[in-house]
Amino acid sequence: MDVEILAKKYALQNAIQHNGKASAKAVIGKMVAEESYLKERIKEVWNLVVKVVEEVNSLSLAEQKELLEEIAPELLAKKKGEKKSKLPPLPDAERGKVVTRFPPEPNGYLHIGHAKAAIIDYEYARMYDGKFILRFDDTNPENEDIVFYEEQRKDLRWLGIEWDKEYNTSDNLKKHYELALQLINQGDAYVCTCKPREIKERRLRGEECSCRKRSKEENRELWKEMHNEIPPGGAILRLKGDMRSQNTAMRDPTLFRIVEAEHPIQGDKYRVWPTYDFAGAVEDSLSGVTHPFRTKEYELRDEVYFYLLEKLKLRKPHLMEFSRLSIEGMPVSKRLIKPLIEEGKVKGYDDVRLPTLRGLKRRGILKEAIRQFVLSQGISKSEGVVTFDQIEAINRKLLDPIAKRFFFVPNPIKLIVKDAPSVEKELRLHPTEDLGYKKIKTGKIFYISKSDASNLREGETIRLKDLFNVTVEKIGKEVEGRFAGMEVKAEYEKIQWVTEDHFPMIIIKPDLLFKGGKYNEESLKEIGGFVERNIEIVKEGEVVQMERFGFVKIERLGDRPLGIYVHR
Ligand code: ATP
Ligand code: MG
Repeated sequence: MDVEILAKKYALQNAIQHNGKASAKAVIGKMVAEESYLKERIKEVWNLVVKVVEEVNSLSLAEQKELLEEIAPELLAKKKGEKKSKLPPLPDAERGKVVTRFPPEPNGYLHIGHAKAAIIDYEYARMYDGKFILRFDDTNPENEDIVFYEEQRKDLRWLGIEWDKEYNTSDNLKKHYELALQLINQGDAYVCTCKPREIKERRLRGEECSCRKRSKEENRELWKEMHNEIPPGGAILRLKGDMRSQNTAMRDPTLFRIVEAEHPIQGDKYRVWPTYDFAGAVEDSLSGVTHPFRTKEYELRDEVYFYLLEKLKLRKPHLMEFSRLSIEGMPVSKRLIKPLIEEGKVKGYDDVRLPTLRGLKRRGILKEAIRQFVLSQGISKSEGVVTFDQIEAINRKLLDPIAKRFFFVPNPIKLIVKDAPSVEKELRLHPTEDLGYKKIKTGKIFYISKSDASNLREGETIRLKDLFNVTVEKIGKEVEGRFAGMEVKAEYEKIQWVTEDHFPMIIIKPDLLFKGGKYNEESLKEIGGFVERNIEIVKEGEVVQMERFGFVKIERLGDRPLGIYVHR
């Protein structure tokens, strides 16, 4: 290939990958890797590359892409192959004017379902140069806990999400009360003092109760009393909807109820709290959100949302919907996760079997995998249940080029090769990526896995991977073999091994928490084995690939390393 074209295509690729600015050094590296003879002409090549890089850098990013598409489209395609799923455009959206929000309730750690919502909200704000609001929907004083405001922020930061504004719904209760009074004064809301059971039954039957006929003065009086002496459950404020509506959500939904519990931020300042119907709609509108997303389960409540804003004469956002994320065999809901922790069925919120962000992180799932998974799902409304292996497949692709390779031998069996030559050499930590080297030194004693040992036949020749061949001589409690040459032969099965220089290691393997709808008693298994001593060179928290075994997150090093099985 013409050297100038070669320089040009790598300069363009490098520029596109780095915001329009290529580096001559990087370009030369690529060129020499493709055409090694260039090494001998490096000075001449350098001058050429500097010139080409200068030209390329003077182009706009769009021009660079166009040019690369022309001369070497395969280099562009490679970048696309990284699967950048794109969200579809938002309706009625204007650049610079889109406002989205993520409204978690501070009553637990965030899970992958929250990640879906947060990532979509955040990505749309970015896509339109808009604003993204973090709003703590903390209007159930019995459920909220002060620690979760910060813990949820940490979870979001881990995902790489940043917000332009943050506030608590509970800070706006005064405003909510004003709006409630406005509804009462308009005759659009009334205090209902029926028993909760009666309210439920009438709602089902589509029947009005006598409270609906209360005068405005009476409602104002009772509303005042709700803040003082009426006991919890004694009265609620209801929207005057339509008790005969086909949509049961419209049958005079509750707007406020009495809760007597200390709120983590507001203390005992308030005892009348808004419902989700009220707070959700009002906050979206008042805070300027243009495109609020809700999960499809709230579909029936959309009518309430708009009706309420209409009555309050407040701006109506463009309500959006996506499906609630469910993963087969996993509890993607705080309501389901909490009891599992309380009953001791999992070890805590960061148990590796849970789809909490803490659990996934501990398990070795990369945040980028979560992001790509969420974007690949997009904002479809179809309520399909996904399987966890879809997330694993994305994670595997991301880990493969960065995970160092090691040998781990589960259930080890001794292999003695009496005439083995002593070998001392360096092996690559990755077959294709430049991740460095590890040193090995072998003797006559090896350990191989029980499952490999049980497949051996006497007289058969196998290859100890990256080392040499061994012919099996005797199989008993231990295996004996004979050195059978260094040459790599395709027909020899390659197996992993460790020497006497190893650590005993436990690898914890999580499985689905629920199988066939029932709690899976065997959802956490321990696999014991030997790992090569070289494992010392990694950092705690790093994910490595144990060859022919799977990816393993190194949770703890030391004399007895502990790992977590990530996936195959
Ligand atoms: P949970 O059952 O986990 O308590 P929630 O909806 O009550 O769910 P919130 O803290 O109120 O939890 O949720 C905050 C936001 O996250 C909401 O906008 C909700 O739509 C979204 N969300 C929660 N769970 C999921 C999920 N499984 N899939 C998609 N979005 C979700
Ligand atoms: Mg909720």
